[in-house]
Amino acid sequence: MPSFVIPSKCDGCKALDKTACQYICPNDLMVLDKDKMKAYNRDPWQCWECYNCVKICPTQAVDVRGYADFVPMGASVVPLRSTDSIMWTITFRNGSIKRFKFPTRTTPEGTAEPAGGWANKPSLDSEALFTEPESLGLSAVWTK
Ligand code: SF4
Ligand code: SF4
Repeated sequence: MPSFVIPSKCDGCKALDKTACQYICPNDLMVLDKDKMKAYNRDPWQCWECYNCVKICPTQAVDVRGYADFVPMGASVVPLRSTDSIMWTITFRNGSIKRFKFPTRTTPEGTAEPAGGWANKPSLDSEALFTEPESLGLSAVWTK
């Protein structure tokens, strides 16, 4: 089921050039109505239900209607993102609530190394993979 924006919770990311949900959507579906300062999913049929917009929204304004077979009427699944984890709040149809906290990173924010610590510089002209030959323990990769 596609994502949808709860207008009363959306603040349009406080009028930034590009909202968080626009930035994160891999299918470029989220649009900001600048008159109302509310975002919306412009083509629900194209939504991959990847939950990216749900997780990144700072005000929990994006939700996804779950399929009735695994999220029965009245139940909900809501993520709350922090810098190092996501807290999922599961509300069951009978009103009971369970929360699960999952870590989302293994390094402090801002310290991840893009190259993973490998010194190699990738070259499009080389037949070697990104970390080779270092990761193979070789001085060079055999090529034809
Ligand atoms: Fe609104 Fe959330 Fe999108 Fe920001 S990320 S524009 S608050 S729905
Ligand atoms: Fe885009 Fe994924 Fe959100 Fe659908 S669930 S609108 S594909 S970010």
